[in-house]
Amino acid sequence: METVEVLLSLGSNLGKRKNNIRKAITLLEAYNILKIKKISSFYETEPVGNPDQPNFINAAIIGETTLTPEELLSACKKIEREVGRINRPRWHPREIDLDIILYDNYTIETERLQIPHPQMHRRRFVLVPANEIASHLVVPNFNKTIGEILQDCKDKSFVARTKDN
Ligand code: AMP
Repeated sequence: METVEVLLSLGSNLGKRKNNIRKAITLLEAYNILKIKKISSFYETEPVGNPDQPNFINAAIIGETTLTPEELLSACKKIEREVGRINRPRWHPREIDLDIILYDNYTIETERLQIPHPQMHRRRFVLVPANEIASHLVVPNFNKTIGEILQDCKDKSFVARTKDN
């Protein structure tokens, strides 16, 4: 089975936010979804899109997987449910959100899945944690590194590294 490297973004703004992120990371490894290679610091971030909700904790991870992109998305949704996420409308607070930012150097455009994640270049809460662990990764479509995309990013929302993960 082929192993590929993936970059995921994690976020939580309900409940014990850091615990939710820690649990998601633990389960991704426990269920053999990902072999975790790197974990960024945890960041306190201001909500973007719908500002009328609590701040998030965001983090990024790099892992190796043998799952296809679709299988990885389904596995991430399962973990979201297990960490306690319930269905709410888009832009609402959530216990946990797992987004696939990069899947090796693939470009994927289906109804369920877009990779690279279509909003990644507009979101400091994705780019700052990703830059900490993957600044030199080249992003397909953009043909720029994460570090370069962060430099060009116009989003000025608040993102601050927290002391502990
Ligand atoms: P949300 O959890 O509200 O951020 O939205 C998740 C939905 O976005 C999922 O149901 C996916 O079908 C869709 N989606 C599209 N591209 C991606 C991606 N790269 N990573 C995660 N979800 C994605």
